[in-house]
Formats: sequence, C-alpha cells, structure tokens
Amino acid sequence: MEQKVRNIVIVGGGLTGLSTAFYARKMYKEAGYTPRITLVEKAPVLGGKIETLHKDGFVIEKGPDSFLARKTAMIDLAKELELDHELVSTNPEAKKTYILHEGQLHPMPPGLVLGIPTELKPFLRSGLISLGGKMRAMMDFVIPPRREPGDEALGDFIERRLGKEVLENVTEPLLAGIYAANMKTLSLQATFPQFAEVEQQYGSLIHGMRTGRKPTETHTGTKKSAFLTFRQGLQSLVHALLNDLYDCDLRTGIAVTQFTKTAGREESPYRVMLDNGETLEADDIFITTPNFAAAPLLREHINVAALEAVKYVSVANVVMAFDKTDIENVFDGSGFLVPRKEGRSVTACTWTSAKWLHTSPDDKVLLRCYVGRAGAEETVELPDNELIAVVRKDLKEMMGVTATPLFTEITRLRNSMPQYPVGHPQAIADLREELRSAMPGVYVLGAGYDAIGLPDCIRQAKEWASNAVQAAQQEAVKVQV
Ligand SMILES: Cc1cc2nc3c(=O)[nH]c(=O)nc-3n(C[C@H](O)[C@H](O)[C@H](O)COP(=O)(O)OP(=O)(O)OC[C@H]3O[C@@H](n4cnc5c(N)ncnc54)[C@H](O)[C@@H]3O)c2cc1C
Repeated sequence: MEQKVRNIVIVGGGLTGLSTAFYARKMYKEAGYTPRITLVEKAPVLGGKIETLHKDGFVIEKGPDSFLARKTAMIDLAKELELDHELVSTNPEAKKTYILHEGQLHPMPPGLVLGIPTELKPFLRSGLISLGGKMRAMMDFVIPPRREPGDEALGDFIERRLGKEVLENVTEPLLAGIYAANMKTLSLQATFPQFAEVEQQYGSLIHGMRTGRKPTETHTGTKKSAFLTFRQGLQSLVHALLNDLYDCDLRTGIAVTQFTKTAGREESPYRVMLDNGETLEADDIFITTPNFAAAPLLREHINVAALEAVKYVSVANVVMAFDKTDIENVFDGSGFLVPRKEGRSVTACTWTSAKWLHTSPDDKVLLRCYVGRAGAEETVELPDNELIAVVRKDLKEMMGVTATPLFTEITRLRNSMPQYPVGHPQAIADLREELRSAMPGVYVLGAGYDAIGLPDCIRQAKEWASNAVQAAQQEAVKVQV
C-alpha cells in the first residue's frame, strides 16, 4: 500500500518542540504515514530553556535543574531513548527544606504537601506561623466549600481556606516559587486544580490532602525521590532526542514569521514563512513557542486575546562555587525559600552540592540562587557585579556565608515564566476550539498552555501528536467518502 506523506512543521525547539517531533514521527509511522518533519528554532541551539554547563568537575544547570518523578512522561521518554540508566535521585540525607521567616531560616514542618499541612503536630509546633495563624488555619475544618463555580486566584483560595499567614509564610514561597508568580493573580485551575476538587469533595483542604496523600515508600522500604534529573545534566535528554531525530530536518537560527492557508485540495493546506525567505509546506503545524511569540503568528487567523493575557516574568539564576573549607555551614537540607514579605533579592536558594551529589566534587560547595519574581524583576537586569553583590549580601545575612566564590555563573532567563491568569484553562480551551475550526491541523502547546513542568511539556507533546494523527485519519476517511 502506498504510504501517505505528511508534512509536519514544528515551531520552536525547546523540550516541547523536540518531544513533539519524537512522538509525531513515531505515531504517524505507526498509523501508516511517512512523516516529513521540519523543526524551526529561532535560537542558534536547540533545547530552549534547558542548558547544562560542565565546568571544573561541576554539573551546572543554567535553566531547569530537575523534574517531578510522579509525573511519569519524562521517565517514559527517557526509557524510550534508553537514557533511564542516567537518572539520578536527590540525596536522601538532604530532605529538609528551610523557609526564611523574620530573617531566620526555619525548617519546613514535615507533612507539607504542596504547601498544605497534612500532619498537624509538626505544623502546630512550627516557628513559621504564630499561634493566631495556626488557629486560623484550623478553621479550614469548618469553613464551607466555595459555592460559585469557576476559577479563582490561587492566593485567594489558600487565604480563604488557611488564612493570610499560611499563605504568606509557607504556601506562597513554595508554590509561587515554581512560577515566580504573584499568588493573587495566578489561576488556581491552571496550577493546582486538585485543591479545588479536594475542597469540594472533603470540605476541608487539610483533611482532603491528608486523605489523598500517596505513600512514598517503595517495596524495598526506601523512600522514593520526589525529584529526578540526569547524571550529566538535563541537556543529555536534549542530546538523546537530537540523536534520535537524525532523520528530521532540524533548523536553528531561523524564525517562523507567518502562516497562510492554501486553496487547493491536492496539496498541503498551509504555507509556513521563515525569516530567511524560505517557505515550507505543512499539513500539520505545532506551535510550541512562548505565547507572546505564538500570538503574532496566529493573529490574522483567530482571536489571540488568550495568548496575550499570559504575561511572562524574567528571572535569573546565580550559581556560586566554593571550596568546602571556606564554608562553615552544615548543609543538612536541599536549600531554602524566601517569602515575598521578607523583602530580599534572592527568592530561593538550592544547596545544589548537598541536594544533588553528582553535581560537585567532594571538596566543593555549589549554591544556586534565584532572583526575580512577578512585581520584582529589576534585580535581574542589574550589571553582573551588582547582581553578585546583592546575592552575596543576602547569602551573608541569611546563611552567614562570607567566603569569596571560586566562580559565579549568571543566567538571565528573560520573559521565561508564564503567569496563567484566572480563567486561563477555559480561555485556552476556547482558543483551541477556534483554531480547530479556522485552521485544522494547527496546534498550540507547551509551557504557556497546560502546565509549566518539563514532564508536562512532554505529556502535551504526546497528547497533541496523538490528536493530530487521529484528526488526519478522520480527514482521510472523509475524503474517501
Ligand atoms: C529558571 C527556570 C527554572 C525552571 N526550573 C524547572 C525545573 O527545575 N523543573 C521543571 O520541570 N521545570 C522547570 N522550569 C520550567 C521549564 O523549564 C519550561 O516550562 C520548559 O523548559 C519549557 O519548554 P518549552 O519547549 O515549552 O519552551 P521553551 O524552552 O521556551 O522553547 C520554546 C522555543 O521556541 C523558540 N521560538 C520562539 N519564537 C520562535 C519563532 N517565531 N520561530 C521559531 N522558534 C521560536 C524559542 O527560541 C525557544 O527555544 C523552569 C523554568 C525556568 C525559566
């Protein structure tokens, strides 16, 4: 039987784009098509936010540094690429996380699940919350669930259930840290929809999160690591994908500028214009860029208000390496978080050499400090010497670190953190529906749409590749009829 050629253009070569290429090629082949994949990436290198630096025996992540193990799409992909033997867990001796409170680091009480207390004794003993704040949190057991349907801000939800103090001192630094966001504008439904479900089902967030808690013990009795990464860094996943995609046309340093629809039925329905003057034919187009880069491509075809509503925040990470002998601190945890109200430049610090043993030589210490969050992005743009100075000042005052770093590696990730507004999931569902009828075969996916985590990007790639194959098969049946 003659195989039908399918021209596929993927816009953007971050993890979403690369894994879309991987799954679209695989699934189209399985469905009897000959996929011809062209991936177009504006930057000179592939991988998007993922970049690993190997320096003086250190493995340094310049973007994301790990992923949630319970979201299995990443592990599944690593297995398919035969890279799963490279997966590494966090150091089991470095489980504690600290939170800064009134200038002092306090251990996070055990039993916090996504910032929600599920064990009452450690929560009630914690120095992070006043007695009044703890009593307010216990009101969660009696406050009735919200009656109005629909989305609300994550911060409003937590404050309504657990009070302002828990929100500001515990939940905000933990959850907003993932998005560098303002909790009072971030969508609950786009980030932690399970909280709203738990509220409706159990009437109490604490009770529901405690009941729904998954055991973390494996059959060997050892605790599973919540986070994983790759021994040689996350970029080894990008390299494995690139090796696997040898038969795809992967283009770098070229931007997609426009799409047009073609009239004829025989040929591919779309033309994709590139900024080097070339034009590509496409049956399917997967747009995996940030939303602000997708909006200009789609504006002449559909209403892009839902894309423009997602603002992006800039952050920087400042990695410092030290000689262990120069540092007096005992690193008995994985790092600390800094609530917004503490008024610091550093928003969080990972004690990388303690949390990830493979990242540093035994006689060295590696610290990774984050700077910048919604409403406080100016620090990101400070000149290098000033940025280093503010980070060292914070490290001195928060941890007592006065040593001079062996070296510092600064990465500014401008407009990198999507801020999902209230109502985002519905707005994106509506946009996709409009896209489906106006431009069948064109798909939008990636961190700006359904979720920000690396496994979420891979999951979206898999889902939309599968949807595209199904749509192509349905279209083929219609044409035959
Ligand atoms: C500092 C930081 C730390 C993070 N830490 C973690 C973590 O530890 N764990 C985790 O799970 N997640 C983390 N994340 C989130 C995660 O890194 C991202 O959500 C994910 O990498 C996004 O991948 P993506 O492919 O969707 O987008 P991107 O990586 O942004 O890729 C999109 C690509 O599209 C390209 N592009 C844009 N316009 C065009 C155009 N017109 N034509 C062609 N190409 C174009 C861009 O150049 C870019 O390469 C972190 C994010 C940041 C910023």
